[in-house]
Amino acid sequence: MGNRLSGKVAVVTGGNRGIGRAIAERLADEEAMVAVGDLLGGPSPSLSSVERLTFKSLDVTKEASVREFIDEVLQQFGSIDVLVNNAGIILHKSIDEQTVEDWDRLMAVNLRGPFLMAKYVAPEMRRAGSGTIVNIGSVEGFMVNPWHTAYAAAKAGVHGLTLGLAVDLGPDGVRCNTVCPGWIETDLNRAYVELHPDRSLVERELAQVHPVGRIGSPNEIANAVLWLASDESSFVSGEMIAVDGARTKKISLPSILDEEYRASLQRLSTRSKPAL
Ligand code: NAP
Repeated sequence: MGNRLSGKVAVVTGGNRGIGRAIAERLADEEAMVAVGDLLGGPSPSLSSVERLTFKSLDVTKEASVREFIDEVLQQFGSIDVLVNNAGIILHKSIDEQTVEDWDRLMAVNLRGPFLMAKYVAPEMRRAGSGTIVNIGSVEGFMVNPWHTAYAAAKAGVHGLTLGLAVDLGPDGVRCNTVCPGWIETDLNRAYVELHPDRSLVERELAQVHPVGRIGSPNEIANAVLWLASDESSFVSGEMIAVDGARTKKISLPSILDEEYRASLQRLSTRSKPAL
């Protein structure tokens, strides 16, 4: 706990659970006043006791809701210094199964939402001559899991939006960056794991595809967001920063060769254990 955001006002979309919740709590720990905008509009019970968090109803897909939310935050706190565009949904369907409504809904939450939030926060940041926008993109903006065409297209769009905002708002003292999470333990991908009857096997194999040997936690994303939201990153803008345990840095091998590689690692680690 520190005071890296003392005196700042932060907005976090989709902050009632998952990654958004960890971000909201982390920014509040650093003394920011945090306005959480979520469909629910109120705190989940475990969050209600966290000081410095205020909850307001927000649907990021609706322009009127975004305007009303920003107006309320400005009326209550007087400024917005940090915007975290976190709200997002996923769709796990083949292109044949996917309907136009599925596509439009996902684009509305994951891409139009960040655009609308930035559009209505930018005038305030421009007036103040400073501000920082942190988007939550995804490693799926660079690479893609099967059946995630809409999700990957939206996240690549968020990465493009980041570049555009960094260039257009830079002269006004506003920075924009994106954190690209890898596999993080939240509700969003739990359904994916539960598609398979042997959940623990899936979890073991998931850990193995990460060079660091495990999946990530929401707090690890929140720490990266905090750095980008604070003055410690004052010359960083327009960046996509992967926080993924190096998953996207390892080229996939045919599974038979990968098994051999892991078996050698195991042999080496057993051999390097000190004799008792
Ligand atoms: P999550 O646990 O499903 O939480 C998503 C949050 O977004 C919820 O609080 C939800 O509100 C909110 N939300 C959904 N639609 C909204 C709307 N129209 N307006 C306002 N809020 C809305 O998901 P998560 O895993 O924390 O994901 C957070 C972000 O990280 C997303 O952008 C996701 O794409 C990205 N991400 C996640 C992973 C991962 O492995 N988990 C990996 C890469 C990127 P309700 O609670 O009211 O439904």
